[in-house]
Amino acid sequence: MDHLKGVKNLDNLSLVIHGPGNLKLEQTPIKEHLEDNECLLETHSCGFCGTDIHLMDDGRLADFIVKEPLVIGHETSARVIAVGKDVTNLKVGDRVAVETAIPCQKCEYCRDGKYNLCPISNTQARGVPPKHGCLRRYYAHPSDFLFKLPDNMSWEEGAMCEPFSCIVHACRRLNISAGQNVLVCGAGAMGMMAFLCAKAFGANKVFITDLNKSRLALAEKLGVDKSYAIDPKTFNDVEMAQTIVKDMGCNPDISIECTGNDMSTSMAIYATKNGGKVGIVGLGGLKSTVPLVHTAMREIDLIGVCRFRDDYPLAIQLIASGKVNLKPLVTHKFPINEAIDALKFMKRNVEGSLKVMVQY
Ligand SMILES: [Zn+2]
Ligand SMILES: [Zn+2]
Repeated sequence: MDHLKGVKNLDNLSLVIHGPGNLKLEQTPIKEHLEDNECLLETHSCGFCGTDIHLMDDGRLADFIVKEPLVIGHETSARVIAVGKDVTNLKVGDRVAVETAIPCQKCEYCRDGKYNLCPISNTQARGVPPKHGCLRRYYAHPSDFLFKLPDNMSWEEGAMCEPFSCIVHACRRLNISAGQNVLVCGAGAMGMMAFLCAKAFGANKVFITDLNKSRLALAEKLGVDKSYAIDPKTFNDVEMAQTIVKDMGCNPDISIECTGNDMSTSMAIYATKNGGKVGIVGLGGLKSTVPLVHTAMREIDLIGVCRFRDDYPLAIQLIASGKVNLKPLVTHKFPINEAIDALKFMKRNVEGSLKVMVQY
């Protein structure tokens, strides 16, 4: 119990999902034994995303079903308050970003360096059943999956490292390079980060689409080259693609689809140039109606994106160096005792809201 010396009090208020529509703020046990490779963490900030809303509403995320009460939350920054005896990369007091999915480090994918595809990591992703998440004051985590935050990064930016690493992974998978033109579909937090990251990777023109005008206004303020408000009642994927190509003066080399909506994905395929790539970041239904024949006849590669692998260091470097400014994306912060209200607020998608965070 030595590692509990740094624990100020034994309050471990946690956000726990018990089933569909049944969220509770309650105490959970603090781990009594710290493994040699683990750090005990004190959570500071935790962002919410669509995953948390699915869990709140449906008690499941695709095939991952809440069977036992589960602590949710997976976009976090924390302080190290105790270290196991084999931990060499961190010390007590360090502030860290938490990489949330822990691979087995033994299977063929892990050996090949593609540890985000490890079947074990899918069952060991914090905040998704069956693995407890990060929205609790104290928990232990392997030090290999913790990344020290430079002093000039805020707690909020630290928490944004999780979703931003996913975007860095997408931009790396898509090989975005200097001078390329990019279409981003969706101006939620992921779409905004995709546009900012594409610019940081050297993209020339970046265009963005969304239903929500206030988000597009923010994207314009942050330097997107052109934005398009989509009206779902009149939206035509072919026509919108033609408009984008006309305005861009060329087809986008790369499109990054962040909505998961079939019509939006179709638009991305129609717009992208022959031989180009479409990154699938947004997750829609289990089956889709996109025009696959176009991807075949025009050799458009659909690029899947699953979380991240070794992307935290670059994500942190891009944020800390100021090449990517994520601060304007964090629009609302709530104290932990209002965590349930915070998640419900996020679900309402009110004008001007983007990333909603909870803080201890
Ligand atoms: Zn998330
Ligand atoms: Zn593995």
